[in-house]
Amino acid sequence: MFPLTEENKHVAQLLFNTGTCPRCIFRFCGVDFHAPYKLSYKELLNELQKFLKTEKGELILEASNPPPKKIRLHELEDGIDGTDNRSQNGEGRVSVVEDGSIASKNSNPNVCNVCLGILQEFCEKEFIKKVCQKVEASGFEFTNLVFSVSFPPQLSVREHAAWLLVKQEMGKQSLSLGRNDIVQLKEAYKWITHPLFSEELGVPIDGKSVFTRMAVMKALNKIKEEDFCKQFPCPPNSPKAVCTVLEMECAHGAVFVAGRYNKYSRNLPQTPWIIDGERKLESSVEELISDHLLTVFKAESFNFSSSGREDVDVRTLGNGRPFAIELVNPHRVRFTAQEMKALQQKINSSSNKIQVRDLQLVTREAIGHMKEGEEEKTKTYSALIWTNKAIRKEDIEFLNDMKDLKIDQKTPLRVLHRRPLAVRSRTIHAMEACYVDAHHFRLQLKTQAGTYIKEFVHGDFGRTKPNLGSLMNVTADILELDVESVDVDWPPPLDD
Ligand SMILES: [Zn+2]
Repeated sequence: MFPLTEENKHVAQLLFNTGTCPRCIFRFCGVDFHAPYKLSYKELLNELQKFLKTEKGELILEASNPPPKKIRLHELEDGIDGTDNRSQNGEGRVSVVEDGSIASKNSNPNVCNVCLGILQEFCEKEFIKKVCQKVEASGFEFTNLVFSVSFPPQLSVREHAAWLLVKQEMGKQSLSLGRNDIVQLKEAYKWITHPLFSEELGVPIDGKSVFTRMAVMKALNKIKEEDFCKQFPCPPNSPKAVCTVLEMECAHGAVFVAGRYNKYSRNLPQTPWIIDGERKLESSVEELISDHLLTVFKAESFNFSSSGREDVDVRTLGNGRPFAIELVNPHRVRFTAQEMKALQQKINSSSNKIQVRDLQLVTREAIGHMKEGEEEKTKTYSALIWTNKAIRKEDIEFLNDMKDLKIDQKTPLRVLHRRPLAVRSRTIHAMEACYVDAHHFRLQLKTQAGTYIKEFVHGDFGRTKPNLGSLMNVTADILELDVESVDVDWPPPLDD
């Protein structure tokens, strides 16, 4: 199990003498299998000391029990000021006491001069427990965990110094040591801690998690070795304390909810209507839906998206408009179909301006279905139209006979402040007019998505050609508009 061989001995001894921990020694010796790192710290230290004591070819007899007598190895005196003074030939101040456990002379064990205790104290069960308690106290529902650690930037500098030391030493023996020959601290830390987290929390731990500071790494790659050695002790000096954990944060990945909504108000925008910081209308479709979701999912914020949108004075009827909501950092994520239905009912009973159907949890990927091919989809509208001249029977028949009418629409004046000026071709697939009185009729339109209906009716000062007014040779205006259907077959309908 002990992974070091005779050829590692020189480097191991050198690092050990300068105050490096066994796991960091493994890293610098390129030990790239996980098992040795996972041994208990005291076992590692024992084995390492035994290894370093061994002469080449010497046989070690394993004692099945630790010696009954208290043996002190390489004990050094404390400095007068009570700090760790390590001698240059540098045996660590570690004692083997009679129960076989390793105890440092004071309560503070020798902190590794390379990892600052990260492969010592922060790999111990006690620390793992502390993190897990934090995770459990955060109240998240979760099925896997991504554990991200931000290490102090000076770790990279210490690592660099230790690397230079070992590289120089190996150079004397005509051996080389590349940066990639060393096992990265974050890798070793992952190997040791992820199984422990997984065991403690009962969920898989994601591996792509730990990161270091890129800026420091880049600077270290640029600095000349002799310049570095002028600025930083090589080997790195022994710290007086382990580094401290500044903060622990828990967060949950986003979840997505989709459905279809109806809008029954002509005085409700889809998203909050705010001009120059001032709110124009008190509510919006997205708020009427999302406020409930935020509460129930205990989420931090949301992002609303939909298959197109309607104007504030346009209703959306029929099957409704598909929408999706991303819930950011939700604490609750598991909902049964029953609970989703109850949530839908809660939304629906809280307002008569909107209704929601087919409310369901979906994946991030599935939301693509809502957006894909949006331009090719058709939409059906119903408009109430006024004309200045009396409507004739021939006008109605003329409109009803028209199929796949091509129109060109310059960007409407009313949206020119937020959309670039362009001419778009659109198709009115079919129309069906229904006489109301001499100056009013209802018009059903089936159009390509993205057609500006209001402009098709009144012509937008000739910017839409042809338009209803030019076709009928009248002045026409639109009094009411409803979206009757949005032909996107997502999200899938649910049984009631
Ligand atoms: Zn270390």
